Amino acid sequence: MPLIVQKFGGTSVADSEKILAAARKAIRTQRENNQVVMVVSAMGQNTDVLVDLAHQVNRRPPAREMDMLLSTGEQVSVALMAMAIDALGYKAMSLTGGQMGIITDATHTKARIRSIATQRLRKLLDDGYIVIAAGFQGIDEYHDITTLGRGGSDTTAVALAAVLKADQCEIYTDVDGVYTTDPRLLPEARRVQRISYDEMLELASLGSGVMHNRSIEFAKKYAVPIHVRSSLSDITGTMILAEPESAERAVCGAAMSASEARITVVGVPDVPGMSLEIFSRLADCRITVDMIVQNVGEKGKSDISFTVPGSELEAALQAVQEAAAVVGASEVTHDDQVAKVSVVGLGMAHQTGVANQMFSALGAEGINIQMITTSEIKISALVDRDSALPALRAVHQVYQLEQEPAERPADQPPAQPPATRATHNNNGPDLGSLVERLQGIDMEELLISDVTLDQSQALVTIVGIPNQPGVAAKVFQSIADAGIFVDMIVQGHKGYLGRISLSFTVPADQLPLALEVTQQLANHFNCHAVTHRPHVAKLSVSGIGLRSHTGVAIRMFRALADAQINMDMISTSEVRVNVVVDGPHGQQGLRQLQTALADVLH
Ligand code: ASP
Ligand code: MG
Repeated sequence: MPLIVQKFGGTSVADSEKILAAARKAIRTQRENNQVVMVVSAMGQNTDVLVDLAHQVNRRPPAREMDMLLSTGEQVSVALMAMAIDALGYKAMSLTGGQMGIITDATHTKARIRSIATQRLRKLLDDGYIVIAAGFQGIDEYHDITTLGRGGSDTTAVALAAVLKADQCEIYTDVDGVYTTDPRLLPEARRVQRISYDEMLELASLGSGVMHNRSIEFAKKYAVPIHVRSSLSDITGTMILAEPESAERAVCGAAMSASEARITVVGVPDVPGMSLEIFSRLADCRITVDMIVQNVGEKGKSDISFTVPGSELEAALQAVQEAAAVVGASEVTHDDQVAKVSVVGLGMAHQTGVANQMFSALGAEGINIQMITTSEIKISALVDRDSALPALRAVHQVYQLEQEPAERPADQPPAQPPATRATHNNNGPDLGSLVERLQGIDMEELLISDVTLDQSQALVTIVGIPNQPGVAAKVFQSIADAGIFVDMIVQGHKGYLGRISLSFTVPADQLPLALEVTQQLANHFNCHAVTHRPHVAKLSVSGIGLRSHTGVAIRMFRALADAQINMDMISTSEVRVNVVVDGPHGQQGLRQLQTALADVLH
């Protein structure tokens, strides 16, 4: 019999009527011949109320007691849900994390799931019960109650779907799916029919808060099909699966993070180990860093810029000042009035002329781009905070995100039914064996799938371009017009004389053409110089959990620094960290990384 996991968030169980409505949905699903596991969050804002209470009695409540307290929110809602189902004449049983056998590590308030026992759940389901599972909680090996971090019920739901090999995991929430961007910011945002795990992971980390990030990592790792839909209606929402909505489109969504801060360490000696010194200190403070740009240095010095969440600026500055003193940098500057606008899409990995569209759209609005970074499936631009919303709108429009993809004409209803595990399994990992293998070790363990070396690219840098709107647009438009495929792009924050430098990688055999085009641009813009390296090596580590396990990039930097290998470019994303080094160091770099990550390489 098919098995469906249905998760109801706090707003979907906020009062008794909503609880009864959710109960009816589950009953209907069971009557349609499915086994049903419900995962329920705390009612409404209950968790916030409990957090507030805790802080009234103790400014720094002990984490163990916090878990003891917060887990009660879900215990209330599962009991009420089971009562509601009983009142409607059906069999239901509520279970806490401990009763279900969700074993976690002992990291209170952000525990990771290690294993889940399925025997009791199976027996109840086979006996015709609707199982009501408390979200967000587990127990550690001493039976102490743990919680998975705010928003963790999503992770409970996907984890249960994984171990029970459910046919689908439905996430019922107060929005009716995943949108091309936050519809509260742009009313023209469109609900997508489908989005891939990788795209969702990127968008979630960029602040589109539809689902708990770790739940998507879980879903990808165990190939769990997710259906995000409204608890207020029966309309089909958005499927989160391995494949994107459209095979042709380069971009599937756009996001804006308005509270970013930029930090620049000026005058860093251009020798191995400097980035490590800076970023390991930030990692020790658990500060997530994004948009890392190293301005190609003059006179053996370089500037390293990066962004951090605005709320972490103070702590980050402190850590960076210390690092700057150690490495002998000349100063640290920062700007807390910036915003990050990003576009995401699996399709951009194989298409030319994607980035220049974004830059052109921003240029046409007169918006200056302060920094640019890219990964395989993401392009981010740092802009002035006041320009953030116009920037998001311009970018959403230029990729025509408000329009349905061409492969599915808008008048045709979406394909039914949404894919289930049966159709989905073909290109996913071998689920059975993966579940068995990871159960008991750590289901949320970091999974590095690949360490690769790409020696096919060349690096071009334009030094000293004016810092004006439309410059990046002009450069990458000319490059795209010449039919050149650009992989990585970084544009640094303004440096010497207020000018910037722009670096990008191209296939080595397109280097002569790229240099010709770039030289013309350099003359046009009166730049200082065009430099290049005919052969660079791009070292990439891909996997699942690179965001929640922050140490991966640091381990890479350390491994390369230990071998005295200098890094020219760095780009990070949810599923991949890339480092560009000088060509001759490629093989050695690869071996270093393989050794350094051997314990997590699967
Ligand atoms: N009740 C928890 C929270 O508010 C877990 C959840 O809702 O997912 O964070
Ligand atoms: Mg929630």
